Amino acid sequence: HAKAAGGHRFHFFAPEMNQRVAARLALEADLRRALERGELLVHYQPQVSLRGGEVVGAEALVRWHHPRRGMVSPADFIPLAEETGLIDALGEWVLREVCRQQRQWLDQGLNVPQVGVNLSARQFRHPDLVGLVAQSLREQRLRPSLLGLEITESAAMHDVESAIATVTRLRSLGVGLSLDDFGTGYSSLSHLKRFPLDHLKIDRSFVSDLGTDPDSAAICNAVVGLAHSLGLRVVAEGVETESQMLFLRRQRCDELQGYLFSRPLPAADYAALLACGRRLPLPPAEGAALQA
Ligand code: C2E
Ligand code: MG
Ligand code: MG
Ligand code: MG
Repeated sequence: HAKAAGGHRFHFFAPEMNQRVAARLALEADLRRALERGELLVHYQPQVSLRGGEVVGAEALVRWHHPRRGMVSPADFIPLAEETGLIDALGEWVLREVCRQQRQWLDQGLNVPQVGVNLSARQFRHPDLVGLVAQSLREQRLRPSLLGLEITESAAMHDVESAIATVTRLRSLGVGLSLDDFGTGYSSLSHLKRFPLDHLKIDRSFVSDLGTDPDSAAICNAVVGLAHSLGLRVVAEGVETESQMLFLRRQRCDELQGYLFSRPLPAADYAALLACGRRLPLPPAEGAALQA
Protein backbone atom coordinates (compact mmCIF):
# COMPACT_ATOMS: atom_id res chain seq x y z
CA HIS A 1 0.00 0.00 0.00
CA ALA A 2 2.75 2.40 1.05
CA LYS A 3 4.58 1.58 -2.15
CA ALA A 4 1.56 2.43 -4.26
CA ALA A 5 1.12 5.72 -2.43
CA GLY A 6 4.81 6.52 -2.93
CA GLY A 7 4.58 5.78 -6.62
CA HIS A 8 1.54 7.95 -6.88
CA ARG A 9 3.27 10.83 -5.08
CA PHE A 10 6.28 10.57 -7.38
CA HIS A 11 4.06 10.74 -10.43
CA PHE A 12 2.29 13.78 -8.98
CA PHE A 13 5.41 15.77 -8.09
CA ALA A 14 7.78 14.91 -10.92
CA PRO A 15 6.55 17.34 -13.61
CA GLU A 16 6.37 20.17 -11.09
CA MET A 17 9.91 19.45 -9.93
CA ASN A 18 11.18 19.42 -13.51
CA GLN A 19 9.57 22.78 -14.04
CA ARG A 20 11.23 24.19 -10.97
CA VAL A 21 14.64 22.86 -12.04
CA ALA A 22 14.16 24.33 -15.51
CA ALA A 23 13.14 27.72 -14.09
CA ARG A 24 16.19 27.69 -11.89
CA LEU A 25 18.52 26.87 -14.76
CA ALA A 26 17.01 29.68 -16.82
CA LEU A 27 17.45 32.14 -13.97
CA GLU A 28 21.02 30.99 -13.48
CA ALA A 29 21.82 31.54 -17.16
CA ASP A 30 20.23 35.00 -16.99
CA LEU A 31 22.16 35.90 -13.84
CA ARG A 32 25.41 34.88 -15.52
CA ARG A 33 24.74 37.48 -18.22
CA ALA A 34 23.22 40.11 -15.93
CA LEU A 35 26.61 41.42 -14.86
CA GLU A 36 27.94 41.83 -18.40
CA ARG A 37 24.70 43.43 -19.55
CA GLY A 38 24.67 45.97 -16.77
CA GLU A 39 21.35 44.81 -15.30
CA LEU A 40 22.53 45.00 -11.70
CA LEU A 41 22.36 48.16 -9.66
CA VAL A 42 22.80 49.19 -6.06
CA HIS A 43 20.22 50.86 -3.86
CA TYR A 44 21.13 52.64 -0.63
CA GLN A 45 19.07 52.49 2.56
CA PRO A 46 19.89 55.22 5.08
CA GLN A 47 20.59 54.49 8.73
CA VAL A 48 19.73 57.25 11.22
CA SER A 49 20.89 58.03 14.72
CA LEU A 50 18.28 57.55 17.47
CA ARG A 51 19.86 60.48 19.32
CA GLY A 52 19.89 63.26 16.75
CA GLY A 53 17.97 61.71 13.85
CA GLU A 54 20.75 62.43 11.34
CA VAL A 55 21.88 59.98 8.65
CA VAL A 56 24.95 58.18 10.00
CA GLY A 57 25.34 55.49 7.37
CA ALA A 58 23.66 53.41 4.68
CA GLU A 59 23.41 49.82 3.60
CA ALA A 60 24.13 48.92 -0.03
CA LEU A 61 21.48 46.51 -1.37
CA VAL A 62 21.90 44.97 -4.80
CA ARG A 63 19.01 45.06 -7.28
CA TRP A 64 18.52 43.13 -10.50
CA HIS A 65 16.50 44.76 -13.21
CA HIS A 66 15.65 41.73 -15.35
CA PRO A 67 14.62 42.64 -18.93
CA ARG A 68 11.49 40.43 -18.80
CA ARG A 69 10.81 39.65 -15.15
CA GLY A 70 11.28 43.22 -13.94
CA MET A 71 12.89 43.67 -10.52
CA VAL A 72 14.07 40.36 -9.07
CA SER A 73 14.50 40.30 -5.30
CA PRO A 74 17.96 39.55 -3.89
CA ALA A 75 16.22 37.05 -1.63
CA ASP A 76 15.64 35.06 -4.85
CA PHE A 77 18.96 35.47 -6.68
CA ILE A 78 21.57 35.82 -3.89
CA PRO A 79 21.07 32.22 -2.69
CA LEU A 80 21.27 31.04 -6.31
CA ALA A 81 24.44 33.07 -6.86
CA GLU A 82 25.87 31.60 -3.68
CA GLU A 83 25.19 28.01 -4.73
CA THR A 84 26.54 28.42 -8.25
CA GLY A 85 29.63 30.43 -7.31
CA LEU A 86 28.42 33.44 -9.29
CA ILE A 87 28.46 35.32 -5.98
CA ASP A 88 32.21 35.88 -6.30
CA ALA A 89 31.87 38.01 -9.44
CA LEU A 90 28.63 39.59 -8.24
CA GLY A 91 30.06 40.47 -4.83
CA GLU A 92 33.19 41.94 -6.37
CA TRP A 93 31.04 44.07 -8.64
CA VAL A 94 28.94 45.40 -5.71
CA LEU A 95 32.05 46.24 -3.70
CA ARG A 96 33.70 48.08 -6.60
CA GLU A 97 30.47 49.86 -7.52
CA VAL A 98 29.95 51.14 -3.97
CA CYS A 99 33.55 52.41 -3.81
CA ARG A 100 33.19 54.08 -7.20
CA GLN A 101 29.95 55.73 -6.10
CA GLN A 102 31.40 56.97 -2.80
CA ARG A 103 34.34 58.51 -4.73
CA GLN A 104 31.96 60.22 -7.16
CA TRP A 105 29.90 61.68 -4.30
CA LEU A 106 33.05 62.91 -2.55
CA ASP A 107 34.21 64.56 -5.78
CA GLN A 108 30.82 66.29 -5.99
CA GLY A 109 31.43 67.74 -2.51
CA LEU A 110 28.90 65.56 -0.70
CA ASN A 111 29.55 64.75 2.94
CA VAL A 112 29.04 60.97 2.76
CA PRO A 113 28.84 58.63 5.76
CA GLN A 114 29.91 54.97 5.72
CA VAL A 115 28.17 52.54 3.35
CA GLY A 116 27.89 48.90 4.43
CA VAL A 117 28.27 46.11 1.85
CA ASN A 118 26.82 42.65 2.50
CA LEU A 119 29.16 39.68 2.25
CA SER A 120 27.69 36.23 1.76
CA ALA A 121 29.21 33.24 3.56
CA ARG A 122 31.12 32.16 0.48
CA GLN A 123 32.55 35.63 -0.19
CA PHE A 124 33.59 35.86 3.43
CA ARG A 125 35.60 32.63 3.10
CA HIS A 126 37.25 33.66 -0.19
CA PRO A 127 41.05 33.62 0.26
CA ASP A 128 41.49 36.93 -1.63
CA LEU A 129 38.77 38.88 0.22
CA VAL A 130 41.12 41.11 2.19
CA GLY A 131 43.18 41.86 -0.92
CA LEU A 132 40.06 42.69 -2.91
CA VAL A 133 38.77 45.09 -0.25
CA ALA A 134 42.16 46.81 0.04
CA GLN A 135 42.42 47.12 -3.74
CA SER A 136 38.88 48.51 -4.11
CA LEU A 137 39.65 51.23 -1.55
CA ARG A 138 43.01 52.03 -3.13
CA GLU A 139 41.60 52.27 -6.66
CA GLN A 140 39.18 54.98 -5.57
CA ARG A 141 41.51 56.63 -3.01
CA LEU A 142 38.85 56.12 -0.34
CA ARG A 143 39.29 56.55 3.38
CA PRO A 144 38.70 52.97 4.66
CA SER A 145 36.17 54.23 7.25
CA LEU A 146 33.81 55.14 4.37
CA LEU A 147 33.31 51.41 3.76
CA GLY A 148 31.62 48.92 6.07
CA LEU A 149 31.15 45.18 5.65
CA GLU A 150 28.22 43.15 6.93
CA ILE A 151 28.70 39.49 7.69
CA THR A 152 25.94 37.23 8.92
CA GLU A 153 26.06 35.66 12.32
CA SER A 154 25.95 32.18 10.77
CA ALA A 155 28.94 32.89 8.47
CA ALA A 156 30.93 34.23 11.42
CA MET A 157 30.17 31.28 13.67
CA HIS A 158 30.74 28.57 11.06
CA ASP A 159 34.51 28.27 11.43
CA VAL A 160 35.14 30.63 14.31
CA GLU A 161 38.93 30.68 14.35
CA SER A 162 39.39 31.52 10.68
CA ALA A 163 36.44 33.95 10.82
CA ILE A 164 38.11 35.85 13.67
CA ALA A 165 41.34 35.96 11.67
CA THR A 166 39.54 37.36 8.59
CA VAL A 167 37.59 39.97 10.55
CA THR A 168 40.79 41.02 12.31
CA ARG A 169 42.60 41.54 9.01
CA LEU A 170 39.65 43.46 7.55
CA ARG A 171 39.41 45.68 10.62
CA SER A 172 43.12 46.45 10.44
CA LEU A 173 42.46 47.94 6.99
CA GLY A 174 40.21 50.45 8.79
CA VAL A 175 36.82 49.38 7.42
CA GLY A 176 33.71 48.97 9.59
CA LEU A 177 32.43 45.48 10.43
CA SER A 178 28.84 44.61 11.36
CA LEU A 179 27.33 41.34 12.44
CA ASP A 180 24.10 41.10 10.41
CA ASP A 181 20.80 39.37 11.24
CA PHE A 182 21.91 39.06 14.84
CA GLY A 183 19.77 36.84 17.03
CA THR A 184 18.95 34.33 14.29
CA GLY A 185 22.17 32.31 14.57
CA TYR A 186 23.81 30.66 17.50
CA SER A 187 26.59 32.93 18.66
CA SER A 188 28.50 31.82 21.65
CA LEU A 189 29.18 34.88 23.79
CA SER A 190 32.74 33.78 24.45
CA HIS A 191 33.33 33.73 20.69
CA LEU A 192 31.50 36.98 20.04
CA LYS A 193 33.76 39.03 22.24
CA ARG A 194 36.84 37.88 20.29
CA PHE A 195 35.53 39.41 17.04
CA PRO A 196 36.77 42.98 16.52
CA LEU A 197 33.39 44.23 15.24
CA ASP A 198 31.91 47.71 15.61
CA HIS A 199 28.18 47.11 15.03
CA LEU A 200 25.53 44.50 15.73
CA LYS A 201 22.39 44.55 13.61
CA ILE A 202 19.24 43.24 15.29
CA ASP A 203 17.35 41.08 12.83
CA ARG A 204 14.16 42.49 11.35
CA SER A 205 12.11 39.51 12.60
CA PHE A 206 12.53 40.65 16.23
CA VAL A 207 11.78 44.28 15.41
CA SER A 208 8.58 43.46 13.52
CA ASP A 209 7.28 41.35 16.42
CA LEU A 210 7.99 44.03 19.04
CA GLY A 211 4.37 45.07 19.53
CA THR A 212 2.96 41.54 19.79
CA ASP A 213 5.61 39.22 21.17
CA PRO A 214 7.08 39.86 24.63
CA ASP A 215 9.97 37.49 23.78
CA SER A 216 11.03 39.72 20.87
CA ALA A 217 11.03 42.77 23.13
CA ALA A 218 13.18 40.86 25.61
CA ILE A 219 15.57 39.78 22.84
CA CYS A 220 15.97 43.35 21.53
CA ASN A 221 16.62 44.53 25.07
CA ALA A 222 19.19 41.78 25.66
CA VAL A 223 20.98 42.37 22.33
CA VAL A 224 21.35 46.09 23.07
CA GLY A 225 22.75 45.34 26.53
CA LEU A 226 25.11 42.69 25.20
CA ALA A 227 26.37 44.89 22.37
CA HIS A 228 27.00 47.85 24.64
CA SER A 229 28.86 45.73 27.16
CA LEU A 230 31.15 44.64 24.29
CA GLY A 231 31.59 48.26 23.17
CA LEU A 232 29.55 47.82 19.97
CA ARG A 233 26.84 50.03 18.53
CA VAL A 234 23.46 48.53 17.67
CA VAL A 235 21.43 49.03 14.51
CA ALA A 236 17.81 47.85 14.44
CA GLU A 237 16.78 46.81 10.91
CA GLY A 238 13.27 46.80 9.49
CA VAL A 239 11.82 49.54 11.71
CA GLU A 240 8.46 50.45 10.23
CA THR A 241 6.45 52.14 12.96
CA GLU A 242 6.84 54.99 15.39
CA SER A 243 6.05 52.73 18.35
CA GLN A 244 8.89 50.36 17.35
CA MET A 245 11.18 53.38 17.13
CA LEU A 246 10.13 54.67 20.56
CA PHE A 247 10.61 51.25 22.14
CA LEU A 248 14.08 50.87 20.62
CA ARG A 249 15.08 54.35 21.75
CA ARG A 250 13.96 53.55 25.29
CA GLN A 251 16.15 50.43 25.11
CA ARG A 252 19.11 52.69 24.16
CA CYS A 253 19.45 51.20 20.68
CA ASP A 254 21.82 53.49 18.73
CA GLU A 255 20.64 53.48 15.13
CA LEU A 256 17.61 52.64 13.05
CA GLN A 257 17.21 51.39 9.49
CA GLY A 258 13.78 50.82 8.01
CA TYR A 259 10.81 52.01 6.02
CA LEU A 260 9.82 54.39 8.87
CA PHE A 261 12.62 56.68 7.72
CA SER A 262 13.28 55.45 4.17
CA ARG A 263 13.11 52.50 1.81
CA PRO A 264 16.31 51.54 -0.02
CA LEU A 265 16.80 54.34 -2.58
CA PRO A 266 18.35 54.62 -6.04
CA ALA A 267 21.78 56.27 -5.75
CA ALA A 268 20.60 59.67 -6.99
CA ASP A 269 17.71 59.80 -4.49
CA TYR A 270 19.99 58.83 -1.62
CA ALA A 271 22.45 61.57 -2.63
CA ALA A 272 19.59 64.10 -2.73
CA LEU A 273 18.51 63.02 0.76
CA LEU A 274 22.06 63.54 2.06
CA ALA A 275 22.33 66.92 0.34
CA CYS A 276 19.12 68.28 1.88
CA GLY A 277 20.10 67.02 5.35
CA ARG A 278 16.81 65.22 6.01
CA ARG A 279 16.53 63.80 9.53
CA LEU A 280 14.28 61.41 11.42
CA PRO A 281 11.87 63.56 13.44
CA LEU A 282 12.38 62.47 17.04
CA PRO A 283 9.79 63.42 19.66
CA PRO A 284 11.28 64.59 22.99
CA ALA A 285 12.49 61.65 25.10
CA GLU A 286 9.97 60.40 27.66
CA GLY A 287 12.04 61.54 30.64
CA ALA A 288 12.04 65.07 29.27
CA ALA A 289 8.30 64.96 28.60
CA LEU A 290 7.57 63.98 32.22
CA GLN A 291 9.61 66.88 33.56
CA ALA A 292 7.93 69.44 31.28
P1 C2E B 1 19.82 42.10 4.87
O1 C2E B 1 21.27 42.32 4.72
O2 C2E B 1 19.35 41.71 6.24
O3 C2E B 1 19.13 43.46 4.38
C1 C2E B 1 17.99 44.02 4.96
C2 C2E B 1 16.75 43.71 4.14
O4 C2E B 1 15.61 44.24 4.82
C3 C2E B 1 16.74 44.37 2.76
O5 C2E B 1 16.04 43.48 1.90
C4 C2E B 1 15.90 45.62 3.01
O6 C2E B 1 15.31 46.15 1.84
C5 C2E B 1 14.88 45.08 3.96
N1 C2E B 1 14.25 46.13 4.77
C6 C2E B 1 14.84 47.24 5.28
N2 C2E B 1 13.97 47.96 6.01
C7 C2E B 1 12.79 47.31 5.97
C8 C2E B 1 11.48 47.55 6.56
O7 C2E B 1 11.26 48.52 7.27
N3 C2E B 1 10.51 46.62 6.31
C9 C2E B 1 10.74 45.52 5.54
N4 C2E B 1 9.71 44.69 5.34
N5 C2E B 1 11.95 45.25 4.96
C10 C2E B 1 12.96 46.13 5.19
P2 C2E B 1 16.55 43.20 0.41
O8 C2E B 1 17.10 44.44 -0.18
O9 C2E B 1 15.44 42.49 -0.29
O10 C2E B 1 17.76 42.19 0.65
C11 C2E B 1 17.54 40.93 1.19
C12 C2E B 1 18.83 40.26 1.57
O11 C2E B 1 19.60 39.97 0.39
C13 C2E B 1 19.73 41.09 2.46
O12 C2E B 1 19.31 41.00 3.80
C14 C2E B 1 21.07 40.43 2.22
O13 C2E B 1 21.20 39.27 2.99
C15 C2E B 1 20.96 40.02 0.75
N6 C2E B 1 21.66 41.02 -0.08
C16 C2E B 1 21.22 42.19 -0.59
N7 C2E B 1 22.19 42.80 -1.30
C17 C2E B 1 23.28 42.01 -1.23
C18 C2E B 1 24.63 42.07 -1.77
O14 C2E B 1 25.04 43.05 -2.43
N8 C2E B 1 25.46 41.03 -1.50
C19 C2E B 1 25.06 39.96 -0.73
N9 C2E B 1 25.95 38.98 -0.51
N10 C2E B 1 23.84 39.86 -0.21
C20 C2E B 1 22.95 40.87 -0.46
MG1 MG C 1 22.71 43.41 5.59
MG1 MG D 1 20.34 42.55 8.00
MG1 MG E 1 17.95 40.58 7.95
